[in-house]
Amino acid sequence: MQKSRRNFLKAGLASMSVATFSSGSMAAPVEAPQKFDETYDMVILGAGGAGLSAACHALDKGLKVLVVEKMSFPGGSSAISGGQWAVAGSKFQQEKGIKDDHALFIKDMMQVGHGVCKPELVDAFVKASSIEFDWFIKNSGMKPITIMVNSGMSVPRSHRFDSSKVTMFYHDYAVKHGAKIYFDTKAEHLLWNNAKKEIVGVQVKRENGKKAFIGSKKGILIATGGFARNKELLAKYSPKSQNAVAISGAGTTGDGMLMAQEYGADVLDVAYVKPTYGFTLNPKHVADKSSVFYAGAIIVNRDAKRFIRENDSYKTIGEAALSQKNGESFMVFDETIRIEALPKDPREKRFIGEKGKTDFGFVGNTIEDVAKKAGLDPKVLAQTVAEYNKHVPDASDPMGRNTLAGNFGKPIAIQKPPFVIIPATACLLSTYCGLRVDPQLRVIDVFGKPINGLFAAGEVCGGFHGESSMSGTGFGKAFSLGRLAFESMSKR
Ligand SMILES: Cc1cc2nc3c(=O)[nH]c(=O)nc-3n(C[C@H](O)[C@H](O)[C@H](O)COP(=O)(O)OP(=O)(O)OC[C@H]3O[C@@H](n4cnc5c(N)ncnc54)[C@H](O)[C@@H]3O)c2cc1C
Repeated sequence: MQKSRRNFLKAGLASMSVATFSSGSMAAPVEAPQKFDETYDMVILGAGGAGLSAACHALDKGLKVLVVEKMSFPGGSSAISGGQWAVAGSKFQQEKGIKDDHALFIKDMMQVGHGVCKPELVDAFVKASSIEFDWFIKNSGMKPITIMVNSGMSVPRSHRFDSSKVTMFYHDYAVKHGAKIYFDTKAEHLLWNNAKKEIVGVQVKRENGKKAFIGSKKGILIATGGFARNKELLAKYSPKSQNAVAISGAGTTGDGMLMAQEYGADVLDVAYVKPTYGFTLNPKHVADKSSVFYAGAIIVNRDAKRFIRENDSYKTIGEAALSQKNGESFMVFDETIRIEALPKDPREKRFIGEKGKTDFGFVGNTIEDVAKKAGLDPKVLAQTVAEYNKHVPDASDPMGRNTLAGNFGKPIAIQKPPFVIIPATACLLSTYCGLRVDPQLRVIDVFGKPINGLFAAGEVCGGFHGESSMSGTGFGKAFSLGRLAFESMSKR
């Protein structure tokens, strides 16, 4: 028999009975009821950045929109994110004399993703990011707090905002323009019309436990975020990440990806889930993260030896750090690097705001002194630092660190007291992989064909990052892909 999704669905639907129709754990397609409880032009699953952005643009075009959100509140990971929005060629970059453009952004993303990411998706995202960013700035009146250079960038490109304010702007805009949002409502299954051969709605569970069947004329948008809080999915796709603390949004359990997989959806990049480096021990939220290694600090393990080039993606560093003995690692730096780090991100003040002081680690007047306090071998650490310093002037580090971060800046010798050591760890923020989509954000099945009526946007999508991700391409991607998904769906 020829393999196709049509046959897959036929088999799934044929095996269904009325009894299984109401089952919560069914891994087979669900045919739409004769009559929906409610019908909208566009139904969006998830009230995070991607879902709210799609809602705003759909409402601007006069569509009747329902957003379904399983939590009691909007925002998802977007509202608690670090708020870095990577965009190239913005007016804010131009004001600071930063030269950047789409071609450089695309090149950087392809490099960070080790060429595994899909060029057509990276291209679509990078272009949409500029359009969405300009729309957001114009309509919100907000300005970035700062523009940072960060993991994988050739130039400062991360426009940092207060993420909760950005997300709430999208929420308020959507509500003001007529969006209906059902909170405490979990999308459970997508609904298929076998005559039309397309997804036509969603089965949800409301707050009172009752199921409802909701129709959507322009198809369904999955914007349910990642799966950092789903231990089973992590065990399946990324066993190394299982033990990392997750601080993503409470709803990030991979529901959207699983729902689409019931219809044979393909997934991309799932083998590359990685935790993010730079968190202090026992992290609770994104404020517990320092990027002092991107200002020049080196990172050593319990043996006081380096194990990674510190200008690599913080995801690659994160995975390497958790693989060290007992998952332990330490950021080591001096006064020059402390001064370098402070203006890069105001949040560093909390860790290293005062000379010779930190609440998160150890300080000493010599490398040996601070090593002893941190429980590291003083002799070995002194050797590690001396070896590192030797290669700084001609950027010939044997580990390959020839910049500060990404392709930006020159390494700095660690030689000016006081010296600081901060124990650090890696933490799971997002999964950056998932449903295979095309540049129109149609969900693609395992046979390479679009699933009619099914779209995805935001962190639930795969193919944009490849092996590792650049800072700022998750938050901005959510809002930008929300726009792209709306544009495709509105053409149906
Ligand atoms: C702490 C932290 C810091 C970060 N910092 C940055 C950063 O600085 N820069 C950057 O680029 N990226 C960052 N990221 C990643 C980035 O913020 C996210 O990838 C992005 O915001 C995800 O947006 P989203 O709309 O796809 O998903 P989310 O914002 O997570 O929204 C998904 C929504 O769907 C809901 N949902 C899930 N399942 C269902 C269901 N079955 N039915 C109904 N609703 C459902 C969820 O409850 C949630 O509200 C960070 C992430 C975290 C957690």
